[in-house]
Amino acid sequence: MAVKNFNLCFCIFLFFVALPLHSYANPSKPKAEKPSAFEFIKHLEGCHKGEKVEGLQQLKAYLEKFGYLNYNHSQNQNHANDNDFDDLLEAAVKTYQLNYHLKATGTLDAKTVSNMMKPRCGNADIINGTNWMRGGKKRPNQAHNTFHTVSHYKFLPGSPKWLSNQLTYAFLPGTNSDAQSAVARAFDKWAAQTHFTFSRSQDLGSANLKIGFGRLNHGDGIQNAFDGPWGTIAHAFAPTDGRFHYDADESWSVGAVPNAIDYETVALHEIGHLLGLDHSSVREAIMFAEAPVGVTKGLHGDDIQGIKALYNIA
Ligand SMILES: [Zn+2]
Ligand SMILES: [Zn+2]
Repeated sequence: MAVKNFNLCFCIFLFFVALPLHSYANPSKPKAEKPSAFEFIKHLEGCHKGEKVEGLQQLKAYLEKFGYLNYNHSQNQNHANDNDFDDLLEAAVKTYQLNYHLKATGTLDAKTVSNMMKPRCGNADIINGTNWMRGGKKRPNQAHNTFHTVSHYKFLPGSPKWLSNQLTYAFLPGTNSDAQSAVARAFDKWAAQTHFTFSRSQDLGSANLKIGFGRLNHGDGIQNAFDGPWGTIAHAFAPTDGRFHYDADESWSVGAVPNAIDYETVALHEIGHLLGLDHSSVREAIMFAEAPVGVTKGLHGDDIQGIKALYNIA
C-alpha cells in the first residue's frame, strides 16, 4: 500500500514537474481548456458611455495596445487608468467596430465583445494614429465614373522596405522542425508572388530575418510581451528589423486542427509584416489581424496587390 502511494505521488510529481517542460518543447500540445488572455472582455458585454465598470481599465489598455486609444494625446490623461467609459473610449470602440465591419454603435455589444476576444496578431492595427485599417485606396471606377474601394491592403507607417530582393532567414535556438518547415513553405509562397528570394542561413547573427518562439515578456519590450494562451499569438517587426516570433504558449498545429492555430498560416501573415505590409481590413486576406483557429488560410488577391504596390512589381 505504501509503495502504491509512493508510486502515485511520484507520478503526480512527474506530471507537474515534467508537463511544463514538455509543453514548452512541444508547443502544439492542446491547451484549449485554458482561459483566453482576452477573457476579461466577456463580462464587459453591454457596457456603454457613462458607465463605470470594473475591467474597463483593462479594455483601455487593450485598445491602446492595438492603436485605437491614446490618452497621452488628450486632455483626459487621468482617465487612462480608471474604469470610466468616457468619450474617448466610445470613439475608440467605434473605430474598432468600423475596422472589423461591425455596426459602429460605440457600445460593447455582443458581436463586438466576441470579436475582441478572438486570438490575434500582436501587431497594432493603427500605428501612431496615422494609418487607419481601412487604408484601402479609393480609385475611380471608369466604367461607372464612380469611386469604389478596390483594395484594403495597407503599408506600415513610412512604407519601410527592403532594398535587397535576396533575403536570408535563420531560426532561433529551440525552434521545432514543424515550425521550420511551415515557415519555409510560407516563404516559398511569398517568393512565388514577388521578386524576393528567401534562403535559409545557419548564421543567426547575419541573417536578415530571425524567426523563433517567445513566451510572455521575451525581450522585445513590455509593450510587445506575449500574454499566455490565446490573446496575441505572434508578431513581427517592420523592414529592416527582421524579427518574427510565435507565442510559445499557443496550441500550434500543422494544417487545420480544431482548437489550434496553423504554423504556416501565421507565418504567411507575419512574413507580410517582415516585408512591410500592415493589417488589412479584408477578412479573407492573410493580413487580416485575427488568427484563424482550426482552419488554414493562404495569400489573397489583396495581399498580393499590396506587396506588388509596395515594391512596384509589375
Ligand atoms: Zn499582424
Ligand atoms: Zn517578440
